[in-house]
Amino acid sequence: MLAQFGRSLLDLVYPPRCVLCWAATADDGRAICAACAQQLPLLRGAQCPRCARPIHTRDGRDQLCGVCRMHPRAPLERIAAAGEYYGGVRALIHLYKYRRCQFLAAQLACLLCERPSVQALLADADWLAPIPLHWMRQRWRGFNQAREIGRHLRRRFGVPLLPAGDFRRVRRTTPQVQLNAGGRAANIRDAFAVRNNGRIRQARVVLLDDVLTTGATANECARTLRAAGAASVSLLVVAR
Ligand SMILES: [Zn+2]
Ligand SMILES: [Zn+2]
Repeated sequence: MLAQFGRSLLDLVYPPRCVLCWAATADDGRAICAACAQQLPLLRGAQCPRCARPIHTRDGRDQLCGVCRMHPRAPLERIAAAGEYYGGVRALIHLYKYRRCQFLAAQLACLLCERPSVQALLADADWLAPIPLHWMRQRWRGFNQAREIGRHLRRRFGVPLLPAGDFRRVRRTTPQVQLNAGGRAANIRDAFAVRNNGRIRQARVVLLDDVLTTGATANECARTLRAAGAASVSLLVVAR
């Protein structure tokens, strides 16, 4: 009762507020209000079943996009995403990653949990593998943004997280955002290594990251994991 009273008192002084528009919200544990949730650019329409790229089709049904038709042998088997990288989704990811709002990991995991394509991908996975950061970057940021989201997905779907030591970033690279598409692939080449093949051999691995841009990083991870014997590698991202 005392705890309840303390909580009510705290809500009176600091009422829960939406992290995006700062409006007072219901105390239901959600970080954003209903109006902001409604406006999030989630992938609702037709999309490519392989890479989750939003597409416009006459009958509104999913079909392979032009890029996937051109590159049938890409190292990533499938990509599933919750939303597009603009508006509220982008703002949430920025707060989470650069403003150290680590509590938003639960909210971002929630966006993923609700997507049928994400549920289908995780139902078939042996390991969830957050894309590793170089240890120096992780120390600077204070956490690996993908691994924190992964902890919530593990709890919800029961898919184990690949131990951080098994799959590591062994080389520091220039941040990909500073390079063009051609430079990104060269920059990231051989940046990852597998230490424990036993767990990865014949396994269906689902990589996890917050944002997909050109896919150079995820493709290099997939190439490394396939070379270590993984049966398949797919990718889960909050936004693409
Ligand atoms: Zn709001
Ligand atoms: Zn595609």
